Amino acid sequence: MSRHAPITAIVALSTALGAPPPGAQVVTGRVEGARVIQQNPVVRTADPIKRGLQLTDFPRTLKLTDNVYTYEDFHSGDEKFTTTNMFVVTDEGVVVADGQGSPAETKGLVDAIARVTAQPIRYVVICSDHGDHTAGNASFPAGVTYIIHPTSKAILDASRNGWKPPANAILVTDRYSFRLGAESIDVFFLGRAHTGGDLSVAVPRQKILFLSETFLNRVFPAMRSAYPAEWLRALDKAEAMKANIYIAGHGFTELGPVSREELTAYHKALRAVIAEATRLHNRGVSVDDAITQADWGEYATWTLASSQGPIAIRRVYDEMDGKLK
Ligand SMILES: [Zn+2]
Repeated sequence: MSRHAPITAIVALSTALGAPPPGAQVVTGRVEGARVIQQNPVVRTADPIKRGLQLTDFPRTLKLTDNVYTYEDFHSGDEKFTTTNMFVVTDEGVVVADGQGSPAETKGLVDAIARVTAQPIRYVVICSDHGDHTAGNASFPAGVTYIIHPTSKAILDASRNGWKPPANAILVTDRYSFRLGAESIDVFFLGRAHTGGDLSVAVPRQKILFLSETFLNRVFPAMRSAYPAEWLRALDKAEAMKANIYIAGHGFTELGPVSREELTAYHKALRAVIAEATRLHNRGVSVDDAITQADWGEYATWTLASSQGPIAIRRVYDEMDGKLK
């Protein structure tokens, strides 16, 4: 896999207005140097092959605006989908939201940033404490300032092995705003969602909101450590913020109206999965039977549905049974 994938500017994604009917194709351009190359049609999926991409296209850096980028590399495992980071370049340094799942992969992110700017990484926001977003953090430069929710800090501090946040990390329980160069950055806790310490990063001047694992783009709602009902409320808050670009922690980066539609689609998926588990629970179906009886409808084809469906049943049952703190 190339560790030096070209920087791709997403252009004309805004032509993908409205939900295309099934089978409809939206063509985007890809800029390499001065050339605009016709890219494969954008299919709304987390699967790179169905999307029309090659596995060798990753990792890749996407330029969203003058100074805001995403970096996508594959999550470990046989089922390929991306773990997505955001970084914001200013003339006083770089803010990074989330890392990758291993030191080598996060070094890929750090190297990708260095190909875009000579500015140093100043802040790293830990939006998800899960290993697929933090286990590579040792590859960030020494001296960066970490920003983290206390719940996530406690989880990482208590883990037997793996990366630990430094004692001087900035703790955010509600909102933390700071300025770097010409950019204001807002870090939000929108409520417990996928991990319990979920943070989001906004670039308010450009109405961009990186939601990390609060938003899984076309990936089946992953609930092993989730708070299902609170997660729905966090998505209500995210939608109410009316960002122009919503960025998911897994799944592809989308721009403009498509990103808003996909956030809504994810919200609907989460609601549907919780409703199906709730229906089975209310009928007195045992957990094991519910796992075999669950009808996920259109979401059965989403990435990770077969592995995450049973986990979702157990978690919603636990919540309904009052077993979640
Ligand atoms: Zn993850």
